[in-house]
Amino acid sequence: MEEIAIEQKKNRQLYRELFLNASKTFKELMESYRSDFSCTECGVCCKIRYSKLSPDDIVRLANEENDTTAKEYLKLFVPYESPLAHEYVDLILSKHDEPVYFYYCKHADDRINCEKSSICKDFPDSITTILPKQCSFRHWQQLIMYKISAEIEPDISKKVQEILDYRHQFKCNRTGTCCKLACSEFTYEELKQKASNNDNFAQQFTSIFIPYTDIEQARKVYPEYVDLVLSTLQGDDSGETANFYHCKHLQGTNTCPVYEDRPQICRDFPDNPFSIIPNSCGYHQWKDEVLVAAYTFYSMTQIYGFYFVKIKAAL
Ligand code: SF4
Ligand code: SF4
Ligand code: SF4
Repeated sequence: MEEIAIEQKKNRQLYRELFLNASKTFKELMESYRSDFSCTECGVCCKIRYSKLSPDDIVRLANEENDTTAKEYLKLFVPYESPLAHEYVDLILSKHDEPVYFYYCKHADDRINCEKSSICKDFPDSITTILPKQCSFRHWQQLIMYKISAEIEPDISKKVQEILDYRHQFKCNRTGTCCKLACSEFTYEELKQKASNNDNFAQQFTSIFIPYTDIEQARKVYPEYVDLVLSTLQGDDSGETANFYHCKHLQGTNTCPVYEDRPQICRDFPDNPFSIIPNSCGYHQWKDEVLVAAYTFYSMTQIYGFYFVKIKAAL
């Protein structure tokens, strides 16, 4: 188990590193597009600022945690004492279930002579800020949405497909490991139930795989993998269980007796390079070669997906 556990740990660290890099790169990209837009001085963000932080929270951050943004905020912004009638306020409230607090700048009525602080110059400090309808930075938000859906997403999908296509350069070594040992969080009964509810994967899976009745039989096939799965679940309070299966067709040799009619899940295995793939598997080299790129693209998908949803919610 040691070797496979070390590889998994190394891969988790690699993923974390690549995710942070991808996140940094995406933020830099968004910032670079921001410079195409500038404030048209409509003044709404001076008259109305919203925050999930209450006035007491801001005082505590400024005084007890020495937070520079909170200190700047205290110098300029004052909480509204009574509810505000303004379409920007209605927009913000319509997008929040939790409490939100409104503030105004002491200099909001005399903006020509105000000395803009960093919290003024940097507004909006996030692409996901809800902005007034007249704010020019809404065009920045719309541009990022466009870039994600029309350029970034198709480009990454193409690259992911190239990784998957590259898998065809490698051949199955006929070790039979993936036919003799499949693991699922679902019991056989649950998979059967899913199959009867038209779950395509469950239908294919239950058409060939049957459960091991004895975990020792599964362990004989790939002990490192079985032990890793079991030990991971032991230290995990998700309530997930591991169920091990083998193909009912494979007998004696590692030659598939239904090769021409085998289901798609067999043809596609391994369908991603993140799975645990034994060293003896003919696709292990594919995994080694593409893992960094695959983690990078997966991270990017997670990151731009997150921002796309958040910006859409803000608009
Ligand atoms: S709401 Fe936008 S356009 Fe208006 S003053 Fe603030 S940053 Fe400028
Ligand atoms: S159907 Fe063939 S390829 Fe698929 S798991 Fe069974 S033996 Fe392996
Ligand atoms: S584990 Fe890899 S090499 Fe072995 S049978 Fe499956 S796909 Fe082929």
